[in-house]
Amino acid sequence: MSEPSPLTLHEDSTPAVWELLPAEQQPDWGAHPDLSDILGELRTTPALTTASDVRVLRHQLAEVALGHARLLQTGDCAEDLRECTPEHTAPKAEVLDELADRLTLHTGRPVVRVGRMGGQFAKPRSSPTERHEGQDLPVFRGHLVNAPEPTPDARRHDPHRMLTAYRASARVLHELDLRRTGPLGPWASHEALVMDYESSLVRRDEETGAPYLASTHFPWIGERTRQPGLGHVELLAAMANPVGCKIGPSAAPEDVVRLCEALDPHRLPGRLTLILRMGVRAAETATPAVARAVRRAGHPVIWLSDPLHGNTVRTASGLKTRHLADAICEAATVRRALEDEGLHVGGLHLETAAADITECVGGPVTGEHLVPERYETLCDPRLNPRQARELVDAVFG
Ligand code: PEP
Ligand code: MN
Repeated sequence: MSEPSPLTLHEDSTPAVWELLPAEQQPDWGAHPDLSDILGELRTTPALTTASDVRVLRHQLAEVALGHARLLQTGDCAEDLRECTPEHTAPKAEVLDELADRLTLHTGRPVVRVGRMGGQFAKPRSSPTERHEGQDLPVFRGHLVNAPEPTPDARRHDPHRMLTAYRASARVLHELDLRRTGPLGPWASHEALVMDYESSLVRRDEETGAPYLASTHFPWIGERTRQPGLGHVELLAAMANPVGCKIGPSAAPEDVVRLCEALDPHRLPGRLTLILRMGVRAAETATPAVARAVRRAGHPVIWLSDPLHGNTVRTASGLKTRHLADAICEAATVRRALEDEGLHVGGLHLETAAADITECVGGPVTGEHLVPERYETLCDPRLNPRQARELVDAVFG
């Protein structure tokens, strides 16, 4: 990859390009007196991932892009700070492993395992406030920014949380490191959302001189922050990590090609993963045109199906839920649409929990009336392990 410019890696006070660009969905720290000390601490704190591990993952993802392997990415919508212990990390990694083994069985290919883990602490939101008992409160934006409890105090954006989230991420990443026995993982990923945090964790690969994002192995850009020329895209464009980008039904084929040009200018297999989250209704109409445009532009991307984010609905009592049947239908539709274009689906991106929660309808959760039984998510509704198994089997079995 060519050297981005100008990149200072905090060696002097000149900001990097992406730090000067506008970015959507950023916290409002107010004029917090500790902000610059906190950023200074993050800039000198140890990297959470190594450049050599990032290179290994990139090599594995090239295998996925070429069709020799598959990719599975699973975990919470928003990680809970209280669940960053080895006791919580182990079952999440086990569910990922078990689902990946199933996918291997169905596809006959090795499966690269990536957790939405060890840094999935920041959430983009469609509305900045929500109404709670007659009061407008700032929304919960993930533990990196504020706390979930519905009080003005908890919802205040607090930059000290960046340090807390860094330390929690370090614990989870350490656990993943211990569990990793080879190039298939488990690896870490999260949405690179809060620019103050992410740009403070850019480090230089001593071997190649290239900058990489040391907060995770595999960062992705969300559906709400994928504007070419703005902060998130330009930050990840400059990083040596493999990168993902969510693509929803509002993305025109030419928008997606522009994103590919920004994030994968050298057309390298596995550099870019497009995570399609179209929704069951749009999947059939929107996928072929996007796939064709990207194929014609010559980008050897990984096509991943996220069949949950486009299918969120509310129960009668107002809880966010998703129907497994919709997710299965979307993933199968995406798989077929890609095959019709001479491409292939690289795997799945899923929100899952390790416990028998009841946040989504399907399988053992036979109706919306059962959704409140065990509803524990901090943000979006996740599949429980049985539902996730059913989905993998239905789409690839
Ligand atoms: C997410 O992955 O939790 C998320 C917010 O997704 P999207 O950007 O696709 O809406
Ligand atoms: Mn989510």
